[in-house]
Amino acid sequence: MTTLQEITSCMDGYDPDALSVDRARAVVRSFLAPVSTNERLALRTALGRVLGEDIVSTLDVPAHDNSAMDGYALRYADLKPEGETVLRLAGDAFAGRRFEGTVGKNECVRIMTGAVIPAGADTVVIQEIVHAQGDAVRIPAGQRRGQNRRLKGEDLAVGRTVLRAGQLIGPAELGLIASLGLAEVWVRRRLRVAFFSTGDELSQIGTPLAPGQVYDSNRYTLYGMLTRLNCDLIDMGVVRDDRASLERALKTAAADADVIITSGGVSVGEADFIRELLTRLGEVVFWKIAMKPGRPMAFGKIAHAGNEAHFFGLPGNPVAVMVTFYQFVREALLALAGRDGDCTLPSLQVPCSAAIKKSPGRTEFQRGMLMRDEQGQWRVSPAGTQGSGVLRSMSEANCFIVLEHERGSIKPGDLVQVQLFDGLV
Ligand code: AMP
Ligand code: MG
Repeated sequence: MTTLQEITSCMDGYDPDALSVDRARAVVRSFLAPVSTNERLALRTALGRVLGEDIVSTLDVPAHDNSAMDGYALRYADLKPEGETVLRLAGDAFAGRRFEGTVGKNECVRIMTGAVIPAGADTVVIQEIVHAQGDAVRIPAGQRRGQNRRLKGEDLAVGRTVLRAGQLIGPAELGLIASLGLAEVWVRRRLRVAFFSTGDELSQIGTPLAPGQVYDSNRYTLYGMLTRLNCDLIDMGVVRDDRASLERALKTAAADADVIITSGGVSVGEADFIRELLTRLGEVVFWKIAMKPGRPMAFGKIAHAGNEAHFFGLPGNPVAVMVTFYQFVREALLALAGRDGDCTLPSLQVPCSAAIKKSPGRTEFQRGMLMRDEQGQWRVSPAGTQGSGVLRSMSEANCFIVLEHERGSIKPGDLVQVQLFDGLV
């Protein structure tokens, strides 16, 4: 196993006190050990989980050539190249009730969408252009051989790998697995995530607020984000800013969880005894990231009682908690949960309606409102208050405006990158 020190010492320009967002992401990414334990679940309960096995098709879906339209199944060779052809109606084919015979020369069969194409027939003509009277069916010229026919195995063919281990099981995957007739699937076990807030000033919701106290809101935003990521949660409450309580909490969490997330206590001035404590319990680096908001962050691993947990020490400011979670923790949790491939947040480029002041040398995550202007074009404007303590800005906004490390100020109309909140986790 590579150590954090080995990872950071190979990195050009690694400076824990002025780390770019990209470098911080790269360190996190190369230090993750994904879970590999699988459990078998009934199909519906697998929604939102990570697939633990490749799914290979044992069936052709559809199982037979079938009709894509309501109409008449016939032998293309019977049709006259020019003018109308009159065919004899030999029977019906419905979805779930096939025509048992064979379509003979100059015959046709009335067929419904999804019904098996009868033996002998190769083409379907839609009912709207056909003239049927008694058992005489008049087909106009201009048909194509094989039209309106869905082929056997066109969706899934026997032996084909339909889904790969590491894919997220969403609604389409549930349906695809069901179309193969599978009632259960192997999925990766859920990540166990322990989280707590630190700070002597924090008060519990549902109790009166003493002077100088604030309610602990970070544990609720974290609860929300982690729940959406389908983690198993271990909520450890508020832990006082003293060495003994913190050590006890960290050890309990490290013994039991895959990931520990804390908020508060990693900023300069507070960090001293926490730094000492964390370094003693495991391997943790303390970063000042060149970003706004959310500069301080601690990252690493803590071990206790034979277990090892990844550790994210997030800043205390409520907005900084959400920004650092979305920018670093989310992707890490997805990778740890066994998700394959690129899990970075999708982003789009849109014009910014207002000017934004910025100097190069740090990445900024402004809270933005993406909406359509009168011409129907998507545009983003910065949300009113951008203070890192103002959680209201996260609620008013629907996206981050990402202003890259090297970028300077923005003029109205400049294209900016936007990451949507909805669907982030
Ligand atoms: P810290 O990083 O511990 O210095 O905290 C920075 C700021 O965030 C302080 O104003 C704290 O009061 C506030 N803060 C820290 N933890 C929480 C929390 N769990 N809920 C709400 N505010 C918090
Ligand atoms: Mg604090």
